[in-house]
Amino acid sequence: MGKEIKMIQLIRGFKDILPGEVELWQQIEKTARSLLEDFGFKEIRIPIMERTELFARSIGEDTDIVEKEMYTFPDRKGDLITLRPEATASVCRSYIQHKLYATDPVRKFYTIGPMFRRERPQKGRYRQFYQINAEIFGVDSPLADVELIFILVTLFSKLSVSDVNAHINSLGCPECRPMFKTALSDFLTSLNENLCSDCVRRKDRNPLRVVDCKVPACRAAMTDAPSIPDYLCPTCDQHFETTQKALSALNVPFVVDKGLVRGLDYYTRTTFEIQTSALGAQNAIAGGGRYDGLIKALGGPDIPATGFAIGLDRLTEIAGSNSTDLVKTPDIFIAALGEKGGSLAFEWNCALCLEGVKAEMEFGDKSLKSQMKRAHRLGAKHVLIVGDNEIKEGKVILRDMDTKDQVLIPIEDVMENIKLKLSVSNIKRE
Ligand code: AMP
Repeated sequence: MGKEIKMIQLIRGFKDILPGEVELWQQIEKTARSLLEDFGFKEIRIPIMERTELFARSIGEDTDIVEKEMYTFPDRKGDLITLRPEATASVCRSYIQHKLYATDPVRKFYTIGPMFRRERPQKGRYRQFYQINAEIFGVDSPLADVELIFILVTLFSKLSVSDVNAHINSLGCPECRPMFKTALSDFLTSLNENLCSDCVRRKDRNPLRVVDCKVPACRAAMTDAPSIPDYLCPTCDQHFETTQKALSALNVPFVVDKGLVRGLDYYTRTTFEIQTSALGAQNAIAGGGRYDGLIKALGGPDIPATGFAIGLDRLTEIAGSNSTDLVKTPDIFIAALGEKGGSLAFEWNCALCLEGVKAEMEFGDKSLKSQMKRAHRLGAKHVLIVGDNEIKEGKVILRDMDTKDQVLIPIEDVMENIKLKLSVSNIKRE
């Protein structure tokens, strides 16, 4: 008895995006690229792996991501490297390393790709997930933050994702945040309620993390906690005021959410999240904010920055229910019979594809019946039948699969005729 060969499965929390699903991803990416480029963003492509130190220094040692979620391992020489859990740190590294600020510090970048976090997998939460990131460097003005939020809201509306809410908050700056942190620490020390074990630890090391803990007991305990907007210095207060005024002027609906602190250490001043009720527990489809100190902390010049990340996995889950059928079906299927028919069909198939006509054919000898079945299964709009008889007569059959009409086309004019026929029927369909 032969040994049974075990099938190798996906890693938990990872997924395949199959044909039939991928079309929606492509459509969303295309819409996002075009919108971002209209707003002057340029694409940047950064590596999937970086030195661990880059993320530890930027995201913060005491964050959940760095503490327990990063895929970190020594490479063959023992250097510690990490699969990127987010893109901002890498975009900053690249901006600094290539001195992209030298000619003009104001730069707008976007990047699309996978991120890796070893979180507990559930619906809407994966260990490899995809983000569209946008960053604006070199602009101190709150209008940069507003532009980012406006782009997000516009993108979601273009994708017919209507059930979205922009939540905004300000985290202050190195001047005023320490005062808030002290007040928060005092409040946490005086607290008698039971916090979750994570928050008991966070309480001393990074009290801000307790603010956005989702555990119900912690939420209840934090009801009367001090809130950041009450501690903002005049400059941060003004920045946040202008942000809100500019959002209102653009008719962007938003709510000020004092509990929004986000999970990364580098944020300053405005933070935001786009939430939806269409997703259940994992309700954030995009998040971001200002991170004015990060470029300097990574060894670059003192240049302000702001950015966002859209969760593509979650966005496709919602946009999917609004999208019409995006799967492309062949314009024409060439059913060939006999050797001569097969080689003519192959020539025409390649020539049509080169002309932008979606053509398919059967490779190998199959009966006409089975080829017609396949054409039907693929959803082909037309079938061209070419066999020895047709070649002898000098005419091939073109069948419209919707109307079942058949016409005879002279072999020598086949390409022109097909293109003409398909453009007419495409116009009819539109
Ligand atoms: P963050 O980088 O944590 O600010 O996340 C930005 C966006 O990425 C979130 O709003 C989510 O939509 C998405 N996201 C973050 N983590 C995951 C994950 N583990 N699985 C799927 N999407 C995620």
